[in-house]
Amino acid sequence: MTSKFNLENKVAIVTGGSRGIGKAISLGLAEAGADVVPVSRTKAAVDEVCNLIENLGRRTLSITTDVSDESSVKFMIEKVIKTFDKIDILINGAGISPILKSAEKTSLEEWNQIINTNLTGVFICSNEVGKIMIDKNVSGTIINIASVGGKVGLLRQAAYCAAKGGVIQLTKVLALDWVKYGIRVNAIAPGYVKTDLTAGVMNSEKIYNDLISKTPMSRFGEPEEITGAAIYLASDEASYVTGEVITVDGGYTVW
Ligand code: NDP
Repeated sequence: MTSKFNLENKVAIVTGGSRGIGKAISLGLAEAGADVVPVSRTKAAVDEVCNLIENLGRRTLSITTDVSDESSVKFMIEKVIKTFDKIDILINGAGISPILKSAEKTSLEEWNQIINTNLTGVFICSNEVGKIMIDKNVSGTIINIASVGGKVGLLRQAAYCAAKGGVIQLTKVLALDWVKYGIRVNAIAPGYVKTDLTAGVMNSEKIYNDLISKTPMSRFGEPEEITGAAIYLASDEASYVTGEVITVDGGYTVW
């Protein structure tokens, strides 16, 4: 690793940091030298990742938050600032995909649940962290975990794709709004990755085989295969990159 990928003295918050892709990114950032606060709604899972971060010799803080709840996010960020006095990196990784239903069978309640977490949650966390970066004059960086579903349509995932498409557009607008503060905002669009979120599709042989047949690399990714893009975007190596979406999908969106 060259010195420009070094994240020493940086403080990172990773939403959705307790499991799957967010956990892998939390540990990757810590390995690259950052102090990392992984957050989610489940204390025991957050504690576990905090222990792993401490084992890597980095500082951390165990705190829960619901990204769709503005007051919960504000409380979490206050605690991070009390402990670390700044935030350099925000990874918006928290996300859900609880339903696989054709649009006409999707209720408004189901739609709102997904939009509130996957899109509004990104807006709330980015805004609250962005304001602090601006106040403290920190040229920080925000990385949103979007999805290939933000770029192409995925069957029976209207709300998920609408939210992720929204995340990609939000990434571009935040990049424009905050370039004057030296804040870079980018996104990563993963393809299918082996996590709890995809356990349902992996358990259905028919759906799984169909997805594999549509992926040139003929496999799902591992959570750790998303980490490199996050470290790159968080580091000084990406100093001229903003408003960009890096796709990490085994070729899913190539054909
Ligand atoms: P997981 O289900 O493994 O992890 C999701 C994480 O988000 C957990 O830490 C969960 O913790 C947290 N989370 C969910 N809702 C909230 C909330 N309201 N507030 C705070 N934290 C929350 O999913 P993945 O790792 O697979 O997904 C991570 C991100 O990557 C998501 O944004 C997802 O959409 C995206 N993605 C995933 C792909 C995949 O194939 N796996 C493909 C493309 C994108 P808890 O439940 O304890 O709150």
